[in-house]
Amino acid sequence: MFDHLLDDDQRGFRDEVRELVSWVPRQMVLDMDADRIRFPREFLAEAGRRGLLGCRYPRRFGGRELDWVATCAALEEVGRLGYIFACVFGVGAELVCDAIVLHGTDEQCERFVVPLLRGDVCAAECLTEPRGGSDFFGATTTAEDRGDHFVLNGQKRFIVGAEGADYFLVYARTALDRDVDARDALTCFLVERGPGVRVEYLYGLMGCRGGGTGRLAFHDVEVPRENVLGEVGGAKAVFDTMMIPERLGTAAMTIGAAAPALDVATGYTTRRKAFGRPINEFEGVSFQVADAAMLLDASRAMVYATARAVDAGLGAGGTRRLVSETKKFVTESCQQAAHNAMQVMGGIGYTNVFPVERIVRDLRLASIWTGTSEIMSVVAAHEWYREHPRRQASLARDAEADAAEAGASEAEKVYE
Ligand SMILES: Cc1cc2nc3c(=O)[nH]c(=O)nc-3n(C[C@H](O)[C@H](O)[C@H](O)COP(=O)(O)OP(=O)(O)OC[C@H]3O[C@@H](n4cnc5c(N)ncnc54)[C@H](O)[C@@H]3O)c2cc1C
Repeated sequence: MFDHLLDDDQRGFRDEVRELVSWVPRQMVLDMDADRIRFPREFLAEAGRRGLLGCRYPRRFGGRELDWVATCAALEEVGRLGYIFACVFGVGAELVCDAIVLHGTDEQCERFVVPLLRGDVCAAECLTEPRGGSDFFGATTTAEDRGDHFVLNGQKRFIVGAEGADYFLVYARTALDRDVDARDALTCFLVERGPGVRVEYLYGLMGCRGGGTGRLAFHDVEVPRENVLGEVGGAKAVFDTMMIPERLGTAAMTIGAAAPALDVATGYTTRRKAFGRPINEFEGVSFQVADAAMLLDASRAMVYATARAVDAGLGAGGTRRLVSETKKFVTESCQQAAHNAMQVMGGIGYTNVFPVERIVRDLRLASIWTGTSEIMSVVAAHEWYREHPRRQASLARDAEADAAEAGASEAEKVYE
């Protein structure tokens, strides 16, 4: 139904990703959910072997020079395997590599992006700390400048790929003087797994298992100066562009992860009978299915409209509100769609006879990670008010002046 939004290249790429999705053995899906697989290296290696990772990047680094619309189509397809597959597919190739391609040197792209897109190595992104994830600029991990290298100390929490990744994109405080504005105090580093990098804890998760999600500690890790990504003190610039893959990518993959719940529920409700009739003949059931379909369609419309805005080159500043609104709306809508799917299946939907219970567990993460729904609202509200004067100036009509009593005295238009 949304195929018309894709051109031939985007559709062709999406179809290649579909082939990868059908390649994944059923046992791998089950083993991930049971935590029998700790990190799906084999899956990422296969995706890399097929040339499906990082489709936006230049061909010389192993990409396809496609765009965000193609990326969203790919992430949506991978999401159908289960949310965690899309998480690991996205974190390294779409997120960490995005930062390196946009802010790194050619040499860094050769060293870190090329092998990742081939599927030979994996990467993780380290923003969140035990003291908090939402307050990103309050990071306390430090990197002390020793000339030709930095010494990294601190901890990062809830890192997908803490176990499994070969290198980490780490934000750390380089301006140790507390007077420096927090926005100029952080630097981004590419840190290879090695001496001093330790996985201190692996989390027992409600869903999204098998991604090696853990707490990482850095003890006197020597990071060569050439592994600084962007400028020293310039992490804000990296963070600003990373918000696009973090939030838009999350939205796209969430649609794919939710859709199978609705497919299963649709089939079930046409076969299951109550009071002598198939239950989809009850409006109480079919309307919940229709509402879920509407939420998924609205989510797709929003994701692809936002992807087009990013592809049009509006930049991180120009799309910040749209991307944040998309992340919040889509992740919450998809959870509602999966909730409806479980509800119309009655008791059996709550069991592992059907996959809907796993999907519901997995999807709960969507409105928490890569920025919570509350933080998306903080960003959207801030941007909306900031844009207000410009928006007003561009309007063809001032709606306020069309009120019958628009000219009422200041005694009626009271603001304080
Ligand atoms: C399974 C999993 C995988 C993850 N993967 C990664 C990863 O790979 N890399 C990574 O860096 N992080 C990762 N995260 C971390 C995730 O991004 C954070 O958990 C999230 O950003 C919230 O941070 P926090 O948990 O510290 O909550 P807090 O920041 O402590 O927030 C707690 C609550 O307070 C609310 N809140 C905070 N500030 C405000 C405010 N100003 N206004 C309104 N409400 C507010 C939040 O919305 C939330 O509801 C992952 C988390 C999980 C659970």
